[in-house]
Amino acid sequence: METQGGIDRLIELMSRLPGLGPRSARRAVLHMLKKRGQVMAPLAQVLAEVAATARDCVTCGNIGDSDLCPICRDDRRANGEICVVEDVADLWAMERGQAFRGRYHVLGGTLSALDAVGPDELRIPKLVDRVRDEGVTEVILALNATVDGQTTAHYIADVLGDTVKVTSLAQGVPVGSELDYLDDGTIGAALRARRGI
Ligand SMILES: [Zn+2]
Repeated sequence: METQGGIDRLIELMSRLPGLGPRSARRAVLHMLKKRGQVMAPLAQVLAEVAATARDCVTCGNIGDSDLCPICRDDRRANGEICVVEDVADLWAMERGQAFRGRYHVLGGTLSALDAVGPDELRIPKLVDRVRDEGVTEVILALNATVDGQTTAHYIADVLGDTVKVTSLAQGVPVGSELDYLDDGTIGAALRARRGI
């Protein structure tokens, strides 16, 4: 097939997105090309806007459009509870469940001896600061039920010691599973049944 320059480049970039291979990327691009006015132009505009404004929240690590994310800015949310998650995807999954109305803390990964990820590579020191400074009464560990996730949970429980109540999501999180793939009701049930760690 004759090369089409920008269109080929667009397909190539789209095919790198999670969940899209070359075939889906071609279909999506062709759809946009056919609907240039209704789909492609607005998408291009929003992409440019979000690329210019998106940033990591300085407090919790969520991704938002200013230095403080909408959750940290929301003064209707309770201050005493921090829910600790591995990744922004997990925070968004918890929010979809609408079961938690406190604050969040995104670690940015898990401890991993294999990948040489230590506490300072994660946002654990910042979590310790927040527990001390924000009048936190409970830290809820909503980490994935993987070996690294559970290792990280126990490390955080040790570091925080008896300065604060530390709990963990309970049944409803299948072993080896990731929060982002659970349905919203399951996340709510696991949150309500959380236990001390
Ligand atoms: Zn935030």
